Amino acid sequence: MSEKPVVIIGSGLAGYTVAREFRKLDQNTPVIMISADHGGFYSKPMLSNALASGKTPSAILNASAEKMAEQLKLIIRPYTRVKTIDPASKTLTLESGEEIPYRQLVLALGADPIRLQLEGGAREEVLSVNDLDDYQRLRDALEGKKTVTILGAGLIGCEFANDLAAAGYQVRVIDISTQPLGRLLPPSGGAFLQRKLEAAGVTFHLGTAARHVERIHESLRLTLASGEVIQTDLLLSAVGLRPRTALAEAAGIAVNRGITVTRSLQVSCADIYALGDCAEVEGRVLPFVMPIMHAARGLAATLAQAPTPVRYPAMPVLIKTPACPAIVSPPDSGKPGDWSVEEDEHGVKALFQGEKGELLGYALLGMGTKEKNTLAAQLPAVME
Ligand SMILES: Cc1cc2nc3c(=O)[nH]c(=O)nc-3n(C[C@H](O)[C@H](O)[C@H](O)COP(=O)(O)OP(=O)(O)OC[C@H]3O[C@@H](n4cnc5c(N)ncnc54)[C@H](O)[C@@H]3O)c2cc1C
Repeated sequence: MSEKPVVIIGSGLAGYTVAREFRKLDQNTPVIMISADHGGFYSKPMLSNALASGKTPSAILNASAEKMAEQLKLIIRPYTRVKTIDPASKTLTLESGEEIPYRQLVLALGADPIRLQLEGGAREEVLSVNDLDDYQRLRDALEGKKTVTILGAGLIGCEFANDLAAAGYQVRVIDISTQPLGRLLPPSGGAFLQRKLEAAGVTFHLGTAARHVERIHESLRLTLASGEVIQTDLLLSAVGLRPRTALAEAAGIAVNRGITVTRSLQVSCADIYALGDCAEVEGRVLPFVMPIMHAARGLAATLAQAPTPVRYPAMPVLIKTPACPAIVSPPDSGKPGDWSVEEDEHGVKALFQGEKGELLGYALLGMGTKEKNTLAAQLPAVME
């Protein structure tokens, strides 16, 4: 390969969306995608509502690495980990010692599940699901089991709770917050979602934390800060994600919560870019699909020599809890304003309005979701 390639590290939604958008603009520049995993393309959001519908990992996989390589004219290196990046020589080194030069480098490294500091001999048995292989491990672990306890009542915890309950498991959810989705919903919205999930068979233990986990024969014995003891077959952690920043940091690239990038998604040195769950764009880490789509389009143009800053419109997030359809567009943190809530037994419409009455965010649940499009049109852009 005489021409230096564009190299993408990561084969998640971020890596693949950039590759696809780039190929629309440039058919000829060589592109190498390096991935620590299988390198196939799949939609990660499906993982938290696939059990009840009996979807296997192979049914979720859209296309293998080989198929994607052919379709997008890429060289894909699956099961290959990048060890170091040298921005000065524009070269990266694989764990095998092989060196790969790049013209431009894209970091689409994703994020690691946060692991709670639990005490007890069974703390390593806690599962989390952040990729297709994790989903296979969860399915294997669920064989012959009846009870599942989920740590974390955030978006992913609630989605798994609903899915596992619908698949016939007895589900408990534990969270230190006093309501589910504490960061996305006002209290009345959280209470509505909780009631709907309880009606679907989920039991909540809120305002307390998991402390200690021990294996007793076939089951796990979990002790909460409240002193309550829960016997469960399986523990699934969904307490959040931490952007993967170590590779960048070791290369001298500036990191904060995520890998710090400009509006053009450039890191603190030339010809290296980052997007997706690993990136922090002007102070925002937005680990969702829509920001990736917008970022990837802008970045593809930048890689094709037409520098294009990313613009984020309003990007409401659909919560995949069939027991309680919900859609949220949380206000930008720190924006002054107040929630006003209309609620009945069928739904919640919570609007976050600024000082002049302008709509800055919303949380719509149940029948409230009917207004999602009308209201979305009134939301301000996240980043103009
Ligand atoms: C269960 C679940 C449900 C979700 N549901 C929704 C939803 O409904 N709506 C929504 O908007 N968002 C949802 N999300 C979030 C969304 O899926 C993510 O924001 C998105 O998939 C992240 O994509 P990514 O490409 O940034 O990261 P990832 O998909 O994590 O990809 C990272 C890639 O980097 C590779 N990698 C990392 N380090 C190295 C290295 N050193 N060398 C080589 N390769 C490396 C990994 O192997 C992987 O291929 C959900 C997330 C989860 C976990």
